[in-house]
Amino acid sequence: MCKTKKDTQQGEMNNQWIHDPKGYNIKSGYYQLQGGHPFVVWHKDVWNAWCVPKHSIISWLIHHESLNTQEKLFRLQICESNACVLCENGLETHQHLFSGCISGCRYGARVKLQLEAWLQIRLTPDYVGHSELQIRVCRMVLAAFWYALWIEKNACKIDRQLARLEKLVQKIKRIIHARVKLNIAGAVKGN
Ligand SMILES: [Zn+2]
Repeated sequence: MCKTKKDTQQGEMNNQWIHDPKGYNIKSGYYQLQGGHPFVVWHKDVWNAWCVPKHSIISWLIHHESLNTQEKLFRLQICESNACVLCENGLETHQHLFSGCISGCRYGARVKLQLEAWLQIRLTPDYVGHSELQIRVCRMVLAAFWYALWIEKNACKIDRQLARLEKLVQKIKRIIHARVKLNIAGAVKGN
């Protein structure tokens, strides 16, 4: 309590808050107490209205490299292998699982290719040459793809059986359809 009082004293005395030069408000007060946040370029990829919230959570953990991958579990001596459960072709790291490229997880790369062919856009977080709508769709699909891949990886670890690629792609497509419908309905309602 005393530390908080000391930390906020200067701002309070001068009515000058580091994060909001206009003066005190609750938001700036919380920022002050938390000590500010480092700026990350991917925050809109994770936290946006188009993404399914549970997909956003997994994306956020991926960006922080906080999921329990085989590589991490092996390092902690919790499992016997650090190989990728999905393709058995490399060290199962965040980079391997979610890069969606051929040099990463083969299974993931094939799923991503099918989604790109369906949408006719490149699913890449740099969004070069994408329109505003394409960026929104891209963010939503990437988050859904990563979520589905992570769930499938964990299911495969237990069942020792990998879902057919087409089945997983269909599942992602159904989620995207439902989400787009919901967003369009929300936009129409808002008009
Ligand atoms: Zn793999």
